[in-house]
Amino acid sequence: MLDVLVVGAGPSGSRTAWNFAKEGYKVTLIDRAEIIGEPCQCAGLITPRTFEYLGYERPILQEMDGARLWGPKDSFLEFQASETKALVIDRPDLDRSIAEKASEAGANVLHGHTYLGHEKIEGGIEAKIRNKSEKFSIQTRLLVGADGPLSRVAKNAGISGKREILTAFGADVKGYKGKDTHVDLFVGSELAPRFFGWGIPTGPDEGRIGIATTLPHKPMPFFRDYFLKGAPSKLLGGAKIINLISGLIPFGVASPSYTDNIILTGDAAGMAKPTSGGGIYSGLISADAAFEVASKALNSGDLSSVNLSEYQTLIVNRIGGELTKGSYLRKAFLSLNDDQLAEIISILDEPKVKKAIEKTGDLDYASLAAFSVLKTQPKLIKFAPHLLKPFI
Ligand SMILES: Cc1cc2nc3c(=O)[nH]c(=O)nc-3n(C[C@H](O)[C@H](O)[C@H](O)COP(=O)(O)OP(=O)(O)OC[C@H]3O[C@@H](n4cnc5c(N)ncnc54)[C@H](O)[C@@H]3O)c2cc1C
Repeated sequence: MLDVLVVGAGPSGSRTAWNFAKEGYKVTLIDRAEIIGEPCQCAGLITPRTFEYLGYERPILQEMDGARLWGPKDSFLEFQASETKALVIDRPDLDRSIAEKASEAGANVLHGHTYLGHEKIEGGIEAKIRNKSEKFSIQTRLLVGADGPLSRVAKNAGISGKREILTAFGADVKGYKGKDTHVDLFVGSELAPRFFGWGIPTGPDEGRIGIATTLPHKPMPFFRDYFLKGAPSKLLGGAKIINLISGLIPFGVASPSYTDNIILTGDAAGMAKPTSGGGIYSGLISADAAFEVASKALNSGDLSSVNLSEYQTLIVNRIGGELTKGSYLRKAFLSLNDDQLAEIISILDEPKVKKAIEKTGDLDYASLAAFSVLKTQPKLIKFAPHLLKPFI
């Protein structure tokens, strides 16, 4: 019997497998994809903190130290920070690098292997797996569900709670006329209802663009409009799509995110940030917390849900507070109409407010900028008094 079977070789699953393999546990990591990291379902924007947390770096395509916000009614705002706030990376390369670390540490990494379901057996779990040529079973003491937003592990374990799921559609384009080192963000009901659109320069004349929305709004028509109208046209005039990207972004931490002999990490546990949709950094945090709790449980021979429950406390303490604040900010954002959005953008453009954002803006901890902005300009609270109160 294995000690640990990890389903999903995204950042959180591979990090979990790496953690256990380094400590000598018998680990198998499976992914249904033939090539780990493919198809890419990400804009590839991370904070420098993410590499620090990971413990090593990968090549960077661009460093970002500014942003432009394009809003309704021609509202516009540009930020310029004094340091690098985000890095643009090759996301499939990152995924493969973490899976390689797991493999080098001794994990058995199986590509093209799909988890189909599981049942509880004496002392653990029996998981049903399929590859190109056969169906077979793997017995394991611990099953880790790191299988993304629609986690089948969570569903079969009966711990997939209700959550908001965004659908995203994007593309890598040639001929992107963005501003070097600046991320472009687009908000407003015409362009990307209930979330935002993005444009990220990835090299000379190249960029990644995309939008995410929630049902009943489907992202594809909005993406088509965004691309064809050029939103705004000077950024995309003459641009050509190189390849398309699509995916789901789940919001809302699963509670519980564990049960007897099972733990969820990353998007499967709802770790994406409700402000930006980013989930790589928070997914890594959940992977480490899962390892800390489950390794103790493996050593004690007690993998009952009671013994794994400390996991929920760890994720809440380490990142849950920020995710909760993010969900307040998201609700406040959802309550705004286009006129209010345009008014807010003009207030954010006041020099002292802009300065506060440039100083405290942080993709991983968006609440920091919210606190400093509301402190600098308390009149913003009128837009969502109940939701923004915790920030003053
Ligand atoms: C369009 C888009 C843009 C994004 N941009 C960013 C960004 O710029 N920065 C950021 O931090 N985050 C971004 N995110 C979010 C980020 O991609 C996720 O939060 C992150 O991938 C979560 O990592 P994970 O390891 O939990 O799951 P995933 O990376 O989703 O990995 C899950 C893995 O499980 C595998 N799998 C699923 N089901 C099975 C099964 N039954 N059997 C075997 N394997 C299975 C999948 O093949 C996949 O490899 C974006 C998301 C989208 C959709």
